Amino acid sequence: MPKINENYLNLKESYLFTEINHRVAEYTKNHPDKKVIRLGIGDVTRPLASNVINALHEGVDAMASAQTFKGYGPEQGYEFLRDAVAKYYESHGVSVDPGDIFISDGAKSDTGNITDIFGDDNVILIPDPVYPVYVDSNIMCGRKITYISGTAENGFLPLPDKNIHADLIYICSPNNPTGAVYNREQLKAWVDYALENEAVILFDAAYEAFISDPELPRSIFAIEGAKKCAIEFCSLSKTAGFTGTRCGYTIVPKELVFKASDGREVSLNAFWNRRQTTKFNGTSYIIQKGASAVFTEEGMAQCMENIAYYKENARIICDVFAKKGIRYFGGEHSPYIWFECPNGMDSWEFFDYLLNNAQVVGTPGAGFGENGQHFFRLTGFGTRENTMEAMERIEKLL
Ligand code: PLP
Repeated sequence: MPKINENYLNLKESYLFTEINHRVAEYTKNHPDKKVIRLGIGDVTRPLASNVINALHEGVDAMASAQTFKGYGPEQGYEFLRDAVAKYYESHGVSVDPGDIFISDGAKSDTGNITDIFGDDNVILIPDPVYPVYVDSNIMCGRKITYISGTAENGFLPLPDKNIHADLIYICSPNNPTGAVYNREQLKAWVDYALENEAVILFDAAYEAFISDPELPRSIFAIEGAKKCAIEFCSLSKTAGFTGTRCGYTIVPKELVFKASDGREVSLNAFWNRRQTTKFNGTSYIIQKGASAVFTEEGMAQCMENIAYYKENARIICDVFAKKGIRYFGGEHSPYIWFECPNGMDSWEFFDYLLNNAQVVGTPGAGFGENGQHFFRLTGFGTRENTMEAMERIEKLL
C-alpha cells in the first residue's frame, strides 16, 4: 500500500464556492420567479480584445502548414512573448531581464508550484485574509504557516514585524479579496525586512493592471533591492480576460542567490528553470501568440477599455457604500470591494440576508481567512446592467 501524502488531510474543506452554489441553488428552487444577480464572481465577463483574437487565429493558422507548424516549444516560453513582457515592465519604469521571465498557463499554477523549490522546514508568512492558494499549497507540503493580520485598522495592509522571523513571505497587491494596494514605502519595508532576514518575498501581481495611480508600485521590482529577495507572479487572466484562455508569467531574478547547506551558491532562477523543464512542457504556442498581442499598443488599449469597464462597476458599488456610511476597502485600484457586514452580522449571515432580501450573491469574507469573518467581497466583474440593478437593490435594503 502506498504511503499517501497525509498533509492533504490537514486541508480545510474547500467549501466556499460549493456552499455558495448550494445556497443559491436552494434559493432559486424555492423562488423561481426571482432574478438572482451574482456579484461575487472573481471571473471576467468581457470577451477577449479583437487584437488578441486575430493573433490567436494566426497561431492556429501556423499549425496548418509544415513550414510554420510548432511542436514542443521552449518550456520557459517563446522569446517573442518574454521580450514583450520585459518591454511592458519597461513601460512602467521597471527593468526586467527577459531571461528571468517564465511563461506559464497562469498564476495559480506558479503560485502553487513554487513550493517545489523551497524546503519544507521554512517559516511561511501569509497575510490573513488572502487568496487561499498560498495557504493550501503550503499545507500540502506540511509547512508551518505564520499568519499576519490584515485588519480594518491597518487598511488590510499588514507590515513586517521585526519580532517575527519568516523565510518565505506571500504578498498580494492589489489584494484579493480586500482590494488594498501597498504603496512604495510599505513595499520597501517588506523588501528591507526580507533582505535583513534573508527571506524571499513571493509577490502576486495578478491585479497590477488595475492600478491607475503612477505612484503606486505595480511590481515588487519597482523597489530597490527587490531582485535580491523577490519572485513575482503575474497573470493575463484579469489584465486581458484570459481566465479561460490561460497564460501568465513568473519572474525569478538571477540575482536571487542563496547558500545551500553544503556551502554551494544556489540560483533560484536555475532551480525554477529545472523545475519547469522537468514538470512543465510550456504554454501552447497559439496561446502565447494571443498573449503577445496583449502587449502591443493596440492590444493593451483594448484590454484597458475592459478594465475601465470593471473599474466603473467597482465605482458604482463603492458609491453606494460611501452613501450608506458602510466601511469599505478597495474598489479603486482593484476589481474587488471589501466591506464590513452591517449590524455586526458575520459574513455567512450577511450572505443569506443579501440573497433573501436583495437576491444578490457575494462572497463571504470568512472564505479568505479568520479576519474575513465580518467582511464581504463584491466584484466589479459583472455586467453594468446587473451591477447597477444589484446596487439599487442593496441601497434600498441597507
Ligand atoms: N492570484 C490571485 C491573487 C488571484 O486572485 C487569482 C485568481 O483569481 C490568481 C492568482 C490565479 O490567476 P490565474 O487565472 O492566472 O491562474
